[in-house]
Amino acid sequence: MNSLSDEPSPHATDVAIIGAGPVGLFAVFECGMLGMRCHVIDALPEIGGQCRALYPEKPIYDIPAWPVISGGELIDKLAAQMAPFNPVTHLGEQVSALEETNAGWRLKTSSGVEINARAVVIAAGVGAFGPKRPPLDGLDICEAQGPGLGVKYSVGRIEDFRGKRVVIGGGGDSAVDWANVLADVAASVALVHRRGKFRAQPESVRRLHELASAGRVDLVTPYQLAGLDVSNGRLAAVRVADLDGNGKTLAADVLLPFYGLAQELGPILDWRLGMGQDGITVDPRTMSTDRSGIFAVGDVADYPGKLKLILSGFAESAAAAHAAHGIVFPEKALHFEYSTTKGVPAAD
Ligand code: FAD
Repeated sequence: MNSLSDEPSPHATDVAIIGAGPVGLFAVFECGMLGMRCHVIDALPEIGGQCRALYPEKPIYDIPAWPVISGGELIDKLAAQMAPFNPVTHLGEQVSALEETNAGWRLKTSSGVEINARAVVIAAGVGAFGPKRPPLDGLDICEAQGPGLGVKYSVGRIEDFRGKRVVIGGGGDSAVDWANVLADVAASVALVHRRGKFRAQPESVRRLHELASAGRVDLVTPYQLAGLDVSNGRLAAVRVADLDGNGKTLAADVLLPFYGLAQELGPILDWRLGMGQDGITVDPRTMSTDRSGIFAVGDVADYPGKLKLILSGFAESAAAAHAAHGIVFPEKALHFEYSTTKGVPAAD
């Protein structure tokens, strides 16, 4: 799999697939089998959709021919299956706009990447994943600060946090693990959680309490984030309050809120596609939406009798790829062939 290609934007491809969940990944394979090149775009920093973001270690029992397989393993296998077709992936990019062009469609992402495609397959699940943002005044200003400063939802380079006063919000694995790691480089680490108990791996929680006893992590419990003090466009302090409303102020260079992921269809709702109760309305024979050249598959697709299962999404991907072939190659007839007859190219 190629990561974000080195070609300058705008990119050009046969099919742009929005969403790198299990169904989007299988759509790459199905398109590849019919000779169509794909770009895949996902808001998350890694492929896998719900399987990898929400349940990487949970067993799945209803994938045909796999009596049991974990969410993470399924994604590894789908990545290997699509690899021979060298899709270009754009990760950490939300597709924010979709515009019609003379030759098909142009997608624009949150950071300004543009992709021209003959056809588009929307495999967006129940929407783009993003961090749950705490509802605090001044958040936008702090989110715009540089590396290791203001409000950040991931750590990236640990070095950016050296000598900084770090406040972490949350009580799960991310909050506890990063408190433990950043204690080694930060000037101070305060961990704010609304309960005294943390929901993280026991070994990480043990290490956290060891660091707290040594005075290297300040456990601010039971408190919740209550406000941000912003001075000259920079985060200066984080205000916290307990359930009785008693507050205190923690001097801070950076706040890391780790409250999990939220999903929302967001910009897709503005693309003037027919919508049903449960997502984008499609013709289940072809997975076409009501806009020519745009298909929807997986959890985001709605038709009578739809089952929101991975295996249904796989079959839908095959139907969408066969229908997209007529749009990408209008001059070529499509002769149905089994994979056993056709084979697949060797992976690079
Ligand atoms: P998703 O997996 O939701 O992936 C969609 C991707 O699209 C996401 O990564 C998202 O970030 C991205 N995206 C959305 N909008 C944009 C945008 N505008 N720009 C860029 N990226 C975007 N199903 C089963 O069949 N069997 C099971 O046993 C099973 N167990 C489950 C257990 C749990 C705990 C959960 C939560 C779900 C389970 N499911 C199960 C459901 C299954 O995970 C979903 O049906 C499946 O993930 C749908 O795949 P998808 O590719 O359509 O969407």
